[in-house]
Amino acid sequence: MKYVEEFRNPELARRLVRAIHQIEGGPWTIMEVCGGQTHGLVRAGIPELLRGKVRLIHGPGCPVCVTPVAMIDRAIALACRPDVTLCSFGDMLRVPGSRSSLLHARSRGADVRIVYSPLDAARLAERLPEREIVFFAVGFETTAPATALAVQYASARGLENFSVLCCHVLVLPAMEMLLQAKNCSIQAFLAAGHVCTVTGYEGYHDLARRYRVPIVVTGFEPLDLLEGIWLACRMLHGQVYEVRNQYRRSVRRGGNPAAWQRAMTVYEVCDRVWRGLGRIERSGLRLRDEYRRYDAEAKFTFDGESGAEDPRCRAGEVLQGALRPDECEAFGKECTPEHPLGAPMVSAEGACAAYWQYGRRPRAVRG
Ligand code: SF4
Repeated sequence: MKYVEEFRNPELARRLVRAIHQIEGGPWTIMEVCGGQTHGLVRAGIPELLRGKVRLIHGPGCPVCVTPVAMIDRAIALACRPDVTLCSFGDMLRVPGSRSSLLHARSRGADVRIVYSPLDAARLAERLPEREIVFFAVGFETTAPATALAVQYASARGLENFSVLCCHVLVLPAMEMLLQAKNCSIQAFLAAGHVCTVTGYEGYHDLARRYRVPIVVTGFEPLDLLEGIWLACRMLHGQVYEVRNQYRRSVRRGGNPAAWQRAMTVYEVCDRVWRGLGRIERSGLRLRDEYRRYDAEAKFTFDGESGAEDPRCRAGEVLQGALRPDECEAFGKECTPEHPLGAPMVSAEGACAAYWQYGRRPRAVRG
């Protein structure tokens, strides 16, 4: 496949692995921010290839994983209303709330539908004027513009039966929060290539300088990841605290201004609670006043308090890179993709799911 196979060339990968090992210094601890990168790294066995030189730790960049349990409970509560059709991306369905999941709700008769784009949900509202259509909007800067487009679509057509349960989050404040932690071991970041495709990476320079951490905007294929790590190691060796762009085929310094500007006409920045990480200042997006009528939290009332996460789940530590998924006691025992205790085991970008899928299962349950 063009533009994919080229980035999986084993000979070039071997050369990059050798080049990383030849850089003087280390071992260094590098965090890949995005869950897609975690899957790419674990699938290709890169952490093992770099053992002794680079310790890769996995970051909070799985949007499904960081969506708070209270919001999942709200989505389930909405889905259970007889007048509501709840639309969501597929990997939200199995994420456990405090008592149930959207999949359970659907099996009990709730109208929960998988969509591939927020616009599909807005168009559904147009087709089904007698139903309330709610789109469960999760994701980082990458998906926020598409939700904004759906809101503007609904606004332009005067759709009153469409709303958004908005959980969009911003990655840069979370990276800064991790760097401020007392026991932070992160020495460099691989920043998320798809987020920077939308936002660019101007905002990362200040973070790199203030916290003395090299940042490499990196793609998702094995050669992208290895080149990103190689660039980070070279900067660590040279004590250079700057931003490099490895993912040049997708990312421009200024990002995609048309997409981001559209998003920011619809949203304003707000504080947001992240599952496992707690409240992070100015790390979320909510609808501006002029679009508030499309905000599901303003439109509907929610009864009852949300419950707690399963106390056995250590997703908070996994999402901060403080615990490897296979170090969680529940991994592969009480917690499997069939019976997940936490979102990282079921999300397509979850670190626990990556370890499960690509073979780092406990011996007793290895399939
Ligand atoms: S393995 Fe399961 S219980 Fe452990 S942190 Fe991951 S999702 Fe939570």
